[in-house]
Amino acid sequence: MIRSILNGFATAFKGLSITSAHLFSSHKKRNVLPASDNNYFKQLEGTNTIQYPHQKLPIPEVGRYQLDVEMDDCIVCDLCAKVCPVNCIDIEAIKATEAIGQTSDGTTKRLYAAKFDIDMAKCMYCGLCTIVCPTECIVMTNQYDKSVVEINELTYQFSEMTPEVAAEKRREFDRQQAERQVAKLAAMQKKEGEA
Ligand code: SF4
Ligand code: SF4
Repeated sequence: MIRSILNGFATAFKGLSITSAHLFSSHKKRNVLPASDNNYFKQLEGTNTIQYPHQKLPIPEVGRYQLDVEMDDCIVCDLCAKVCPVNCIDIEAIKATEAIGQTSDGTTKRLYAAKFDIDMAKCMYCGLCTIVCPTECIVMTNQYDKSVVEINELTYQFSEMTPEVAAEKRREFDRQQAERQVAKLAAMQKKEGEA
């Protein structure tokens, strides 16, 4: 009986000592170290959290966070969407009637992006899309704090083309194709007439 009571006191004392040690050490601040620092995971004392968002832990240079697309450099080749293992990139291309410009690396642009959506709620941050992109216009940024209220807010829309403009671009292309077909037929008939 007395032994059990003594054991109870000893256990309570041990528990309180651990609690007190953590209580007092929590007043110490942790150093904000880069993830590459050897002591990054060895800081066992100090506050468990930092004063986020006023203070943020540095992130690794090769970290994979929110995607971003520089649309001026996108040639709408669809490679990123094809390689994505979870199909979270949705692109709709419209053929242009002529070259519509150049990317910063000199690649000629011939397609409009009527739609370029990335569903970051589905994204598994594998980075494959950034690897296959021929113009390196889709990149992982260092942005990781994207809390939203509605999950559909995590679908980022990078194309700024309105449905009206997209419809007009489709009509322009169809018109051009029809004109070319008429011209081709006329040329064939003329050739046959001369023969
Ligand atoms: S990082 Fe991976 S999962 Fe996310 S969009 Fe790119 S290819 Fe898809
Ligand atoms: S791979 Fe690059 S250039 Fe091609 S559609 Fe995707 S972001 Fe645009």
